[in-house]
Amino acid sequence: MTGLFSSGDDSKKVFYKTDDEIELIRQSCLIVSKTLAHVGSMLKPGVTGKEIDRAAEELIRDHGGRPAFKGYHDFPATLCVSFNDIVVHGIPSNREFREDDIVSVDCGVELNGYYGDAAFTFPFTAVQPEVMELLSVTYGSLYKGIEQAVVGHRIGDIAFAIQDFAERKHGYGVVRELVGHGVGRSLHEEPEVPNYGKRGKGMVMREGLVIAIEPMVNLGVKEVYQAQDGWTIHTRDRKASAHYEHSVAVRKNKADVLSDHNYILEAVKNNPALQIISPKS
Ligand code: MG
Ligand code: MG
Repeated sequence: MTGLFSSGDDSKKVFYKTDDEIELIRQSCLIVSKTLAHVGSMLKPGVTGKEIDRAAEELIRDHGGRPAFKGYHDFPATLCVSFNDIVVHGIPSNREFREDDIVSVDCGVELNGYYGDAAFTFPFTAVQPEVMELLSVTYGSLYKGIEQAVVGHRIGDIAFAIQDFAERKHGYGVVRELVGHGVGRSLHEEPEVPNYGKRGKGMVMREGLVIAIEPMVNLGVKEVYQAQDGWTIHTRDRKASAHYEHSVAVRKNKADVLSDHNYILEAVKNNPALQIISPKS
């Protein structure tokens, strides 16, 4: 889930984590990764958001975790399921998936008091090359951001790297209203991690900072609007939007990626209803 509501959170303090705490966050992230992989294996035309949501909650609880989104500011479900022109925060519904859909699935888990958060956009088989390129670039922009998540760099370095790749290099619209965030003791902590900004600006990152980096990138214009339900975010021009997210611990030379997309990529590879997707470098 993105940091749309972070300004309402109860603390403006950055919590730096010990190595032990980072391992606990990694365990929560592992359940998130397994849940997204399980969902990825279930996806086919005719399946609904509600069905994958039910399966996700069951898997999380079987692993001893708690769905972190359910009840968060009264969000009604375990997953955010955001297809096509929905950017993020889609509420799982009875709408059946179609073979030309892209579906962003966002999942958060709390285990032993620590939170993990990750998201993946899945493309069905009939998604057009133009939209596949959007997914690949958005996924690539996530890793451009992660490369900057090292001790001594600033939050603005991450923001700039994502925007530079997705917007300046590839001409897409980077969403401004929603941001990544600190994660760990709560689902959303300080600092905010925007996907646009200036190099050398923002907070200096130190060892023990754990953040969720989550570019949201639109095929067309960057502007978005919120639906009547108070959650669902659509692109203003109703064109497609992509979203990929990792939780990462800031380290000295290289970020430690705590969520593991390999589980998801394996599920995608084994699901004939989906197209294989890889990050653009
Ligand atoms: Mg998320
Ligand atoms: Mg998030």
